[in-house]
Amino acid sequence: QHDTKAIQALDSAHYIHPFTDHGDLATRGSRVITQAQGIYIWDSEGNKILDAMSGLWCVNAGYGRKELAEAAYQQLMTLPYYNSFFQTTNVPAVQLAAKLAALAPEVRGRKFEHVFFSSSGSESNDTNVRLVRRYWDLMGQPQRKTIIGRHNAYHGSTMAGASLGGMSGMHAQGDLPIPGIVHIEQPYFFENGRPGESEAEFGLRAARALEEKILEIGADKVAAFIAEPVQGAGGVIIPPATYWPEIQRIVDQYGILLISDEVICAFGRLGHWFAYEKFGYRPDLVTFAKGVTSGYIPLGGVMVGDRIAKVLIDKGGEFNHGYTYSGHPVACAVGLANLELMEREDLPRKVREELAPYLAKRFAEIGEHPLVGLAETCGFVAGLVLVKDKASKAMYDPELAVGMMCRAHCFRNGLIMRAVGDRMIIAPPLVMTREQIDEMVALIRRCLDDTLSELREKGLHA
Ligand code: PMP
Repeated sequence: QHDTKAIQALDSAHYIHPFTDHGDLATRGSRVITQAQGIYIWDSEGNKILDAMSGLWCVNAGYGRKELAEAAYQQLMTLPYYNSFFQTTNVPAVQLAAKLAALAPEVRGRKFEHVFFSSSGSESNDTNVRLVRRYWDLMGQPQRKTIIGRHNAYHGSTMAGASLGGMSGMHAQGDLPIPGIVHIEQPYFFENGRPGESEAEFGLRAARALEEKILEIGADKVAAFIAEPVQGAGGVIIPPATYWPEIQRIVDQYGILLISDEVICAFGRLGHWFAYEKFGYRPDLVTFAKGVTSGYIPLGGVMVGDRIAKVLIDKGGEFNHGYTYSGHPVACAVGLANLELMEREDLPRKVREELAPYLAKRFAEIGEHPLVGLAETCGFVAGLVLVKDKASKAMYDPELAVGMMCRAHCFRNGLIMRAVGDRMIIAPPLVMTREQIDEMVALIRRCLDDTLSELREKGLHA
């Protein structure tokens, strides 16, 4: 048992949390999460909560998997640490690299046979900046420096990660973005589609913003384009079907590198080991983290496609970049055990063929709710938009923070759902049963009903 008040007092006295207003912490206190099993977490007051966000889009294989704890324990006892610098290596890192290379599908002649390891998505995207600039240096085009990202994208919290990302709130602090990084519009039809424009037309227009930006900068100065297959932290923004093929045409035409940031979308989240396969595009670099260990231990990295790997290895000499924990044996042992578990349980296929279609069907029903203007899913991520008026799809004044109101009802009802403005999003563990999907959908409905009641009581909804 835990003394919640005592933990909260220590928490606000000593612990600076990421992305948290500490004024709130001092007055209301953090919710103290103490244990987890399957798809549920428990807080220090004994409340059971259905975790529809998989921690932070991490816990793909669910909580309480003994195989992962055992893999960590065995490796901690055998070789807890050694570095991979200066021609040393370790067995789990080698085996995990080979496993990832075997799982990453070849796409239109591009193979992914090489992996660079880090401990997080942010670090991996820093590595990507180093890799693309090194590549262009080695190719004799050192003027190709600029990397194009997208507004409202999330690529991490380091200086480079936060700069590649397009979160205006993050750019408002710390003089970001750093030089050499620019952004284009996100492909969000619900908000950015024009009257009379079809979703397919919008997808092409959103992709062509990349071409316009390339021409504005000068194609010979552009190094790479970075994007998430489906934008996660930006609110589960699912691109129109026309978007990715047009992006592929543009990066091919101008010869620029394509970075697919799959920190959220890989490892079964969209029903495939890697998400580029789902959308059929051909990246040069693929960022991964989170789901590679189901979040049990920090690990990230970059799948380096052969276009870059060949140049880096054949002509590169020493790549002056790396982290103490690159290829950490314990993290890699857990990663390996996690991927083997996901293979044994056939999770990507199960998501693709069974769970995601069922979630899509149940979400279509949620779309009927009077407060919901749009409900959509892609694999095992989903988003719904809270609207003031269902017919016109008019949204609430952001000042009213209706999304946060809904989130508070989720907390009370024992459900973790995330609010991005008035877009509510989920990314549940991939080990759900249909009954658990039903349970989650029932909870979402209850939270929507409670939010609607509160809005009506306040005279804010008809
Ligand atoms: N890229 C994407 C797409 C992410 O969603 C995240 C984390 N939410 C990151 C990068 C950063 O990963 P990390 O927090 O492990 O540094």
